[in-house]
Amino acid sequence: MKKALVIFSGGQDSTTCLFWALEKFDYVEAVTFDYGQRHKAEIECAVAIAKDLGVKHHILDMSLLSQLAPNSLTRNDIAVDEKIPDGASVPNSYVEGRNMLFLTFAAVLAKVNGINNLVTGVCETDFSGYPDCRDMFIKSLNVTLNLAMDYNFVIHTPLMWLTKAQTWEMADKMGKLEYVRENTLTCYNGIKGDGCGHCPACTLRRNGLKEYLGS
Ligand code: ZN
Repeated sequence: MKKALVIFSGGQDSTTCLFWALEKFDYVEAVTFDYGQRHKAEIECAVAIAKDLGVKHHILDMSLLSQLAPNSLTRNDIAVDEKIPDGASVPNSYVEGRNMLFLTFAAVLAKVNGINNLVTGVCETDFSGYPDCRDMFIKSLNVTLNLAMDYNFVIHTPLMWLTKAQTWEMADKMGKLEYVRENTLTCYNGIKGDGCGHCPACTLRRNGLKEYLGS
């Protein structure tokens, strides 16, 4: 039986990946990381979607992440950058090493549960500039995890080379566009569905949807 663990935040990308995994694998579980997100709504969204889809859902406490690297996603006193500031390579919503840590912890959880496929919605095409979302890093970590745990992990990144418009298209082809649009939370200001409309995540999501729908 082919089993997969999806790294799942309750956002557009990881929810699309969850639907993708449900089509591709015989058995799917999801894991969400609680790292002190400002908006508990993110975790509530993830819980609701996993329950809705009948997927076993793990929530792991990763609060140490905000201790290690204070950032605008966990700290109320840091406003989320609307764009990348002059002289910076990433916006302040970037959490140093976050995807590396999430994938590593997910791999441990997966192996303990007899699962060797990991699915993550990371993407190189959205120009976020996060180094641990790049294809090169994912391939490198895959090798490292296999060596670290003497296990045959396969990290799947179905969105790696897709634009946001193509991610919407993927959801649509699975018949899930409306579901993803209404039930996921991507917005940095914690508003479900179409979001606040002006944070970087909302802008990316809205522009992608407009492009896909051709309006
Ligand atoms: Zn927003």
